[in-house]
Amino acid sequence: MASQSLSIHDTGGLFQIAEPEDRKGRARRPGFGVGIDLGTTHSLVAVAPRGAEPRPLADAEGRALLPSIVSYAGDAAVVGYAAAREQLEHPSRVVSSVKRFMGRGLEDITFSHPYRVVPDPQTPGLLRLDVGPAAPGGAPRLRTPIEVSAEILAVLKRRAEAELGAPVDGAVITVPAYFDDAQRQATRDAGRIAGLKVYRLLAEPTAAALAYGLDRGGEGLFAVYDLGGGTFDISVLRLRAGVFQVIATGGDSALGGDDFDRALAAHLLERAGATAPSDLQREEARLVARAAKEALSERERVTVSLPGVGLRDAVVTRDELDAQIDALVRRTVKACRATLRDAGVRAQELDGVVMVGGSTRVPLVRARVEKLFGRPPLTDIDPDKVVADGAAIQADILSGSAREGVTLLDVVPLSLGLETMGGIVEKVIPRNATIPIRARQVFTNYSEQQTGMTFHVVQGERELAADCRSLARFELKGIPRLPPSMARVEVSFQLDADALLTVTARELMTGVKQSVEVKPTYGLSSDEVDRLVMESLDNAGEDFAARDLAEARVELGRVVLAVRAALQEVGHLEAILPADERAGVEAALAGADAAMHQPDADAAAIRSALGQLERASEPFARRRMERALNAGMEGKSLFEVEDTLAGEAALDERRGGHSPELVDDDPGAPARAEQDVQKDS
Ligand code: ADP
Ligand code: MG
Repeated sequence: MASQSLSIHDTGGLFQIAEPEDRKGRARRPGFGVGIDLGTTHSLVAVAPRGAEPRPLADAEGRALLPSIVSYAGDAAVVGYAAAREQLEHPSRVVSSVKRFMGRGLEDITFSHPYRVVPDPQTPGLLRLDVGPAAPGGAPRLRTPIEVSAEILAVLKRRAEAELGAPVDGAVITVPAYFDDAQRQATRDAGRIAGLKVYRLLAEPTAAALAYGLDRGGEGLFAVYDLGGGTFDISVLRLRAGVFQVIATGGDSALGGDDFDRALAAHLLERAGATAPSDLQREEARLVARAAKEALSERERVTVSLPGVGLRDAVVTRDELDAQIDALVRRTVKACRATLRDAGVRAQELDGVVMVGGSTRVPLVRARVEKLFGRPPLTDIDPDKVVADGAAIQADILSGSAREGVTLLDVVPLSLGLETMGGIVEKVIPRNATIPIRARQVFTNYSEQQTGMTFHVVQGERELAADCRSLARFELKGIPRLPPSMARVEVSFQLDADALLTVTARELMTGVKQSVEVKPTYGLSSDEVDRLVMESLDNAGEDFAARDLAEARVELGRVVLAVRAALQEVGHLEAILPADERAGVEAALAGADAAMHQPDADAAAIRSALGQLERASEPFARRRMERALNAGMEGKSLFEVEDTLAGEAALDERRGGHSPELVDDDPGAPARAEQDVQKDS
């Protein structure tokens, strides 16, 4: 086994263990952090101040749900139940389900709706809704979906301030897991317009999982089944080291409780013998059907009347409802199966299924979900409120409060991670993870010359190691010579209940192993933690750019190295690299060098050089691989063939090559393994 060396350069403050006195003395920012579920049908705001249990906030009439409806029938916008009442009379000026328009352009609107939509004159690619003039005869008002959503958020913000008697500092707003950048940005902008500091957007299924405290387990696989008014979403989450990652999402953006209402309404109209109902009769039937459906979640039978079509005191049973919605519920089950398949997960492997959305109160839905997953779903928390609850918990943490609901002492105040190539930090244990905890991550080599790896353990929230606190360094030697990305080094971080951190690195092929222990010290004050967290929030934009640039540089460096090695190995063979092509490859290499050494190059410039190099060297790489395969079949030892094949597989992936020469050991930082780069946002 190869020799190993160990050196610890710094064992500086790892943990802040707060004493009870500390907690009281801790400076709080004046406002509260709130959680907001900005839903298609309903929205709501919840708080979990200073570690308390989350609770939704109600309006003066005691209603927590705010219909996501904004009326522009008058000159001032009206939101919620009052807006819903104006809908029948002014269908085109009362905006409902505005979430479907967020961050979308005209070409994205393929569903039917009663509004006139026009391209946004200010932002190409987005749209506006014509909500009519403020007063008769006035100019039409064009509202962006962002502005409409901001009206809803502003009402919730005011509600929270009235209830809490303190300003709202900021909010965590939830979005569907599948929302793209434009939709997320639109949601952020809506928050800002409403006067909220948006701490972060949180995926709805992740919020639901947080509300159930599923993060406390440290590890697990969960499904979140969310059936709302107009949409069905199914998500599969993986929890690792206390962090949720959405590994697959699916569903149906045009399937929800509204469809149940329509199905039951059609049935009622049929029972009444109304073969050609008017719009008004249809609307009446829909409203009655909705009320009946909701009542049937609690009762076996209800009595309904549809005066418009002469139906009086008719009994509707739950079985009757079930028969009408059976096909719709089946569609959700089918979508669940497809998403489980995408996630590569079998239903039995799940550690829990969370129910979200008002429509999951329907007993048939619960029964079908239970059957599919082979276990009763989690329904203890009100399915309307669970998303807002989770957002509130997250908001409380981000507003600077240490959650005391868990055990305060057992929380990692700042993330722990490793420096990877390019000085980038890969977080292994996130901030606020509860201890004891163990997290593993696989890293890989950067080049074949890398037979050793230096592990630099850091703590902090920033993206670059230089901006974090250095805790320890150690080396793992004796990594077998393998082409770039082929070596697999598993690094585990283990934090025991006494807050002692042990970092172990193990090469998976040979089993060579090295570990280091970092003793806790008590050097970090609460204020210091607060400051570091705030700094990471303040610098989030720049940090992201710096990380992006560093990653682009690492990637380009890796490809340059591989192409150089390939040139050295077979570049002289005309059959593999014709002279004219060689000139192109060399020009691209020179371009790559220039980009690498350009001090103010941005990530886009580096990526463009990378693209050029990949394109220029692609035919060369392909011919080299073919030759290697042929050579491998002709009289080489098995070991050589395997070696070549392994190398070529990497070559194929990386469009580079590997050098057969042996050079001095080159211990460097580990590179991130590809499968480990995804994190839930
Ligand atoms: P969204 O996430 O789209 O805003 P919600 O989660 O608020 O939607 O769900 C709204 C839907 O839930 C409506 O179709 C409503 O009829 C339905 N719903 C609410 N309560 C019940 C109930 N008790 N039984 C059945 N369906 C219900
Ligand atoms: Mg919802």
